[in-house]
Amino acid sequence: MGDVMRPLSFDHLMSWALSELRTDESIFGVRTDQFWRPGAAPAVTDAFGHRLTNPVGPAAGPQTQLSNNLLVAYLTGARFMELKTVQKIDGHELAKMVPKPCIEAEDEGYNCEWSTELTVPQAFDEYVRAYFAIAVFATELGIGLVGELVGGMAYNMSVGYDLAGIQGDKVQTYLAGMADATSTAVWQECHDWVAAHLGQFSHFTRADLDRLNPCLSTSVTLSTMHGCPADEIERIVSYLITEKGLNTFVKCNPTLLGYQGARDALDRLGWEYVAFDDHHFTADLQYDAAIGMLNRLKALADDRGLKFGVKLTNTFPVQVLRQELPSEEMYMSGRSLLPLTLSVAQKLAHDFDGQLPMSFSGGVDAFNIEQLLRTGIQPVTVATTILKPGGVIRFNQLADKAVGVMTDYCGIDVDKLDGMVADVFADERYHKRYREKIRSRKTNTPLPLTDCYKAPCEHGGCPIEQRIPDYLTLTAQQRYAEAFDVIALDNTAPTVTGVLCSQQCREHCTRLDYDISIDMRGVKLVASDHAQDAYIQAQRPVALRTEQRAAVIGAGAAGIAAALYLRRNGMDVDVFDKLDGPYGIVSYIIPWFRIGKDHIERDYRLAVAAGVNFHYGADPDYDIADLLTRYQHVVIATGSWGKGMNPFGENEGHDRVIDSLDFLWKANNNEPIQVGKRVAVIGAGDVAMDCVRTAKRLPGVEESILVYRRTEPHMPATQHEVNTVRAEGLTMLELLAPVSFDGSSLHLEKMVLAEADASPGKRARLSVRGTGEFVDMAFDTVIGATGATIDTSPYAANGLAMDARGTVVLDAAYQSSVPNVYVVGDGRLGPDTIVRAMGDARVAARAILAKAGLTPDYDAPEVRGHLQAPEVYHRRGLLIAEINGKAEGGRCLTCDDVCEICTEVCPNRANIAITVPGFADPRQIVHIDGLCNECGNCGTFCPHAGLPYTDKVTVFWTKADFDDSHDAGFLPLPGGGYLTRNPDGEVFELDAERTRISPEVGRILTALEQRYAYLLAPAEGALA
Ligand SMILES: Cc1cc2nc3c(=O)[nH]c(=O)nc-3n(C[C@H](O)[C@H](O)[C@H](O)COP(=O)(O)OP(=O)(O)OC[C@H]3O[C@@H](n4cnc5c(N)ncnc54)[C@H](O)[C@@H]3O)c2cc1C
Ligand code: SF4
Ligand code: SF4
Ligand code: SF4
Repeated sequence: MGDVMRPLSFDHLMSWALSELRTDESIFGVRTDQFWRPGAAPAVTDAFGHRLTNPVGPAAGPQTQLSNNLLVAYLTGARFMELKTVQKIDGHELAKMVPKPCIEAEDEGYNCEWSTELTVPQAFDEYVRAYFAIAVFATELGIGLVGELVGGMAYNMSVGYDLAGIQGDKVQTYLAGMADATSTAVWQECHDWVAAHLGQFSHFTRADLDRLNPCLSTSVTLSTMHGCPADEIERIVSYLITEKGLNTFVKCNPTLLGYQGARDALDRLGWEYVAFDDHHFTADLQYDAAIGMLNRLKALADDRGLKFGVKLTNTFPVQVLRQELPSEEMYMSGRSLLPLTLSVAQKLAHDFDGQLPMSFSGGVDAFNIEQLLRTGIQPVTVATTILKPGGVIRFNQLADKAVGVMTDYCGIDVDKLDGMVADVFADERYHKRYREKIRSRKTNTPLPLTDCYKAPCEHGGCPIEQRIPDYLTLTAQQRYAEAFDVIALDNTAPTVTGVLCSQQCREHCTRLDYDISIDMRGVKLVASDHAQDAYIQAQRPVALRTEQRAAVIGAGAAGIAAALYLRRNGMDVDVFDKLDGPYGIVSYIIPWFRIGKDHIERDYRLAVAAGVNFHYGADPDYDIADLLTRYQHVVIATGSWGKGMNPFGENEGHDRVIDSLDFLWKANNNEPIQVGKRVAVIGAGDVAMDCVRTAKRLPGVEESILVYRRTEPHMPATQHEVNTVRAEGLTMLELLAPVSFDGSSLHLEKMVLAEADASPGKRARLSVRGTGEFVDMAFDTVIGATGATIDTSPYAANGLAMDARGTVVLDAAYQSSVPNVYVVGDGRLGPDTIVRAMGDARVAARAILAKAGLTPDYDAPEVRGHLQAPEVYHRRGLLIAEINGKAEGGRCLTCDDVCEICTEVCPNRANIAITVPGFADPRQIVHIDGLCNECGNCGTFCPHAGLPYTDKVTVFWTKADFDDSHDAGFLPLPGGGYLTRNPDGEVFELDAERTRISPEVGRILTALEQRYAYLLAPAEGALA
């Protein structure tokens, strides 16, 4: 770890690329089949006047800093390269001002970096090296030609931030070099290298080299600091046009919308927690002043035969409230920036009647790029989408989509832009809730040094660790019986969970960072519909393998799971339930319109066919001591049926206040229930959602309304259930807390989210408080749905130890203080979920089986229905909308077959996947310290708790970097050998026998030496 980047010499850059191409058929981690080939579409002229194979590329930012970044962007399809901003402050001086990590792209993006962290001369060198590398590989690989603009692409410079800085030596030298690089040392370095190595190329010729245009760029985008005065902006642009003869665009901010305009745009799409006050809005360029200035500058450029326009938008500065980054302010990007940027574009397009050229950056991805290009806006740059899994490979799809719709720039079509703005504000995909309240996808496992691939849906997401990628893949291949076998191994209620599962797996699904997480339960239901009946028919009770017997109290999801896991593995089991049938809450409480009896019955038959004995109408006063005389093991799985908190607290309530479980029991079991015409449901969990939907379906009910003290984003219910309520057109009243109910009038206090009164801006997310203002509403019945409780009195009565808080005391296998007596499911967890109840049962069953000397079948080694690596790679980087039915599994990235996310999301390509024999995973991850600036992005997306940039085997290129780090790894020494740091922090010179490193790390080092020597070459060194 060390945030100083060490640019590669041209020799190193090219040797690396060529060696990797030979050995691994990839360049800087991008496989040859991911190189984008333009096809027959003619080039277009963009708004700057560049001729481009497509008008799409990386925005000035983390991906346009190093030569290798630019090269891979080109190879994957980018053709408009907005180079990272240069300004007078650079290198170490700037790095000191940028706290790390500096990128947070979990959902919408944030950063606290600005211009290049290299020195300006280093940045220039990098751009020249990339230019040569692009020229050579474009021709050599047949993906672009060397013409006026290399390979059909253009460099667009980005400079900042004030006129004095731009007129200073540093930036002037940069501008001069970009206008004509021939006399620069780096041009010579690259030119000489290519000339000397022409023999290595089959298609790139001397003539191509001679044809290279030494003018690297004819255009510039001006970046100014927030608060830069309008006249200063105008002076700089005038200077760039008149003195430098550059086609010039100026970055404009969402602050042009005014505070209220920006706030409203974000709030409409659920981004109300994004916090900002109005100081930038008053300090930044004002809209009216902007119109005058833009008109004058446009006229000036027209006079000179140059292009002038705006880049929308630069950034949107917001406050750090949730510790996203270690700075006070951060710059927003990604999908939340799209509505703001489009709104600015729309405003300007109307005022200029479509005649103000615009380039665009702000939330563009493969789903919206076509519509955007059809408005006439171009070129388009992206940053956040390529910081997410798939990384630069996403340019493949962006480029493909762009060529289908692109035309020469001919102004903005205002009507189409109006249409796009309307569509975006109406599109659920741009709403914050689209990500279903999920922040991080990470799980809590430490990141292993080697063999780290994992499917986070399965390990970390699913409480019963279902082999998710296997059954998704098998179902997509229509191998339903095999898919069902895989499901049934871990899941004792495949159909019930296929319909109702709360899907913790989805919260960790890699697809969440692409488009939307996979509908795993939907796929499970498809497999169950096709194969469960046949599976049951073929099932026979296995012979008993032990004399020991188990009694299970409660035939809900947890009890049936425990019984089935035990019986399937050869233990005799009796299940006792006080009700007259199976599946507890699922059968008797969850509303009929959410799950049918036939579905419940199908899962019940699985347990019956396996040989579990069920006894209904059992005495609820169970006697553990008595049971233990007949059974060696007892599992208590009696659920959580105690009354919830009275919503009116000490104000008690009227007899027309009904507890949610009483209400749902009656409604679901055809018992008489009178609720009148108007029903209020207090609460916002999943049970409240069921109550409000059930009440609406009762005869005579005219209105069923949900009342909640906070706002929708804070509702504890899953987003899916909230969406269902919305889809049924039911009202959800927010920010109202119940005070009392007299049988006809519900007295409510108006609430506010804390700090919302510190107007404008500054809102925190969670706190809520009363305003002292009240409102009364007429209702006939109030249903309290604030959460059921566990009735623990039977536990205590049976001698199970309880702690001071009244919770039953259990060990890690959920065994109570009475030996061989276990408590699982909602009876342990409180009101929870079906799959977590099964998860409990699985843990307890494992312990019970172990005591009987049996190994559970669900601990069998993984069933592999997996994909070969090439097919997994083929899916990377492609955004695909959710597909209903069996094909949905085809979107799965089978993350345990190939992960490599850290290699994709690193803007600097500092994490490398290398082939090393002798490991379970096909590739191992090596971190290159000299390319890493500790932006933190790989840490965000690695599915483990750890951080690839600190936790993986690291190669250092300088002693200073080695000393500046704690990471395990190697520094090649000038005389041969390595300075080595082991994972425990021990530092030593590696002996010839390599006795002090583990065999695994030894194999990695051998692979580096034999196959990837260019990774060990010091940055300043030259490879032969
Ligand atoms: C309205 C509602 C909607 C829900 N929706 C979902 C959903 O969509 N998805 C989801 O995953 N989860 C949902 N849940 C939660 C889920 O139903 C529970 O987490 C799950 O059913 C718990 O299973 P369990 O076996 O622990 O308990 P239960 O299902 O409560 O089963 C306990 C069983 O024990 C029996 N029993 C109790 N006491 C005794 C006794 N003394 N002697 C003998 N038998 C006894 C009961 O009769 C019952 O059959 C919902 C819950 C509710 C209330
Ligand atoms: S993409 Fe597939 S394997 Fe990866 S987390 Fe999602 S469901 Fe699991
Ligand atoms: S390795 Fe990780 S922290 Fe380092 S530059 Fe790449 S993404 Fe950022
Ligand atoms: S992101 Fe990288 S380090 Fe993390 S699990 Fe995947 S391959 Fe391993």
